[in-house]
Formats: sequence, C-alpha cells, structure tokens
Amino acid sequence: MRVRDRALLNRRLDGLGTTIFAEMSALAAATGAINLGQGFPDTDGPESVREAAVRALRDGRGNQYPPGTGVPELRAAIVAHQQRFYGLAFDPDTEVLVTAGATEAIAATMLALLEPGDEVVAFEPFYDSYAACVAMAGAVRVPLTLRAPDFRPDLDALRDAITPRTRLLLLNSPHNPTGMVLTPGELAAIAELAVERDLIVVTDEVYEHLTFDGTVHTPLIALPGMRDRTVSISSAGKTFSFTGWKVGWVTGSRELVAAVRTAKQFLTYVASGPFQYAVAEALALPDAYYTALRDDLQAKRDILATGLAAAGFEVHRPQGTYFITTDIAPLAPATDALTFCRALPERCGVVAVPNSVFYDHPTAGRTQVRFAFCKQHDVLEEAATRLRKAFNG
Ligand SMILES: *Cc1c(COP(=O)(O)O)cnc(C)c1O
Repeated sequence: MRVRDRALLNRRLDGLGTTIFAEMSALAAATGAINLGQGFPDTDGPESVREAAVRALRDGRGNQYPPGTGVPELRAAIVAHQQRFYGLAFDPDTEVLVTAGATEAIAATMLALLEPGDEVVAFEPFYDSYAACVAMAGAVRVPLTLRAPDFRPDLDALRDAITPRTRLLLLNSPHNPTGMVLTPGELAAIAELAVERDLIVVTDEVYEHLTFDGTVHTPLIALPGMRDRTVSISSAGKTFSFTGWKVGWVTGSRELVAAVRTAKQFLTYVASGPFQYAVAEALALPDAYYTALRDDLQAKRDILATGLAAAGFEVHRPQGTYFITTDIAPLAPATDALTFCRALPERCGVVAVPNSVFYDHPTAGRTQVRFAFCKQHDVLEEAATRLRKAFNG
C-alpha cells in the first residue's frame, strides 16, 4: 500500500488536530491584534536570572548533556523550595526529576504509569496536553465537568467516577483555564478517596505561586497518605516568566520518580542545560520576589476583569493562574465561543481562546472564552478599551 493511500495519523491521536493556541496565535500575528490567547508573559523574568543563564552558558555549564535526572544544583534547589514553601522533604538523588517543562513531565508520567485501557479521571475543562498524553498512552480519559460560576469540583461525582479500571487522577490546581484553586477541604476529600481506592494522583502545580486574594496553594502530596502515591509536577516557566526555557520537574516517591524517569529518558533524555543552572538560582530568590510576582498579577487580573465586565462579559473571577474565564452569553447568546474567538481580532483587535475546546462535553463550555492577563498594564488597558468600544459603545 502507498503511504498516501493510508490514514497516516494513528487512531490514538485521531481527532486531536492542531492546538487552538497555534490557530489563535497565527490569527494574532496576521491581524496585529493584542494576543490575550496564549498564556505567556510579554515581559521576561528577573534580569539576575537571565544573567545567570548567560553566565552558565559562557562558563560552559550545561552546554553538553547534563545528568539525566537534572544538574545537582537544580535538584538541590527544588528540594530546598519544597522544604521552604511546603515543609516537604525529598531526596535530591532519587525523589526529584528535572524535565523539559511540565509538559514533558506530564507526558512521561502518563506513558510510564498507564496501561492501555486504564481510566484517568480529570476535571474538564482540561489543559490541552492532558487529552493527548492520555491518548498516546492508550488510556481512556474520564472527564468530570467543573461548572460555572465558581468551578468547584463535584466530589460526589468524583467518587462515582472511580471504577476498578481507574488508575489515576490527573489534577490541576491552580486550574487552567478556570482559575479555581482547590480548598483544604477539597484536597482532604480527594486524598481520602485516593487512599480508600488506592489511586495514584498526578498534580500539575505550574501555577503554585500565582494565587490571589490570600488564597493558599497546598500540594496534595503534603496530605496524609499521599506522599507515596502522588506525582507532583511543576515548572519554572510560569513562576519566573521564562516560558521558553522549558525547565520543569517531578517530585515524589523513589518508586514513582524511577518509573517516570524510565519514560522520560527516551523522550528527551535531557533538556535546557544552561537554563537548569539559572532556574536553580531563581528558586532561591527571596520571598519578596514571589510576593511581588503575585501582587503584580493580581493587579493585572483586576484591570482585565474590570474591563471585561464593563464591556458586558460575565466574568468568573479567578483565584489563581494567568487566566480569566468569561461567558459571552450576555453579549452574544446565540454565538459559540469558537466562532466568537475567530471573529474577535477582526472585530476589535483582541485575541482570546474558546474554552469549549478544553471540554470533552463541548456544550458545557459552549459560551466560555478565556483571556490571559499576564501582560503589561497598558496592554491590558488598551485591550479593555477596545473590547468596551466594540461591545458596549
Ligand atoms: C503552561 C502549562 C503547562 C506547561 O508547562 P511547561 O513548563 O511550559 O511545559 C502545564 N500545565 C498547565 C496547566 C499549564 O498552564
């Protein structure tokens, strides 16, 4: 048979298509619109951290394959960070693994831990790589819908969703795109359920430092019974505003980290050599850095939330992350989010992302649109002005 006569993409990846971020960022580039679609900051992180990367590169640190688990300086810094912020102790040699961003950590974890046919329970809307990674592992995703206005998880539905085939829970808190942060009570209930049903839990915590209004993030792995059944994932991209560096990490028990390492070594083996040294320095920044980052982002959230509300959007105020989820129903009840987002740059020079694509049940998010606020204040003000003019005269 000739190559072109066959369906080329394997059935596991069928229907995954191109990520919405590629489409919307291309639209932003083509129209010159303000890009509030993809979640990356429009200013780089601390100059001292950037300089640390330059220094590492010049000094010849990390220009050749670093150790497969990550450079010792970074593993030590990750351990110190977990101890400093959460009182958690990890062995830097066996319980920490450096990855090519959280994205590779998620992929390696799914490939390492899942058998074909295993069920993975996750809250939708989900970060778009989850569906792809679960599919590549040949597993089955079981979505539980987070519902507006506050997107709290339905813990009874979670309990009911667990079957004998459930292998793991894949959690994301602070949650992209809704901005929901799990409460201590919710974390405790999830931990109890995981212990009772003997589940592994994978936690995507890339927004761990980006919480607002005094909301506190607690890693699930800190809860009773969770230390040996949780794969805790984070990354430098969001915390230090260097999303292009792709330095992420996994912390967990020796056994879980060894399993993830087995898959990870055949994906990239290693990545981001010199940046690993810079991130080691970044993690040790004083508390003032983390506080200022959070305060600045909260101010940005407020600028955009106020602007969106003034333009007539229903605004779901996030407790964390880079994103505001809105509902366009008050503005355009008959329009779905994807149609709305495709027309938005032409209409007013702003790009946003339809949340509907992050659901398995698209009707659940049919009129939800996500805006990123990790942008400079004047950019957010300008976007707000454009939206107000377009929708509210
Ligand atoms: C940005 C993001 C990631 C990816 O992190 P990288 O370190 O850039 O790979 C993973 N999960 C969520 C929820 C994100 O928003």
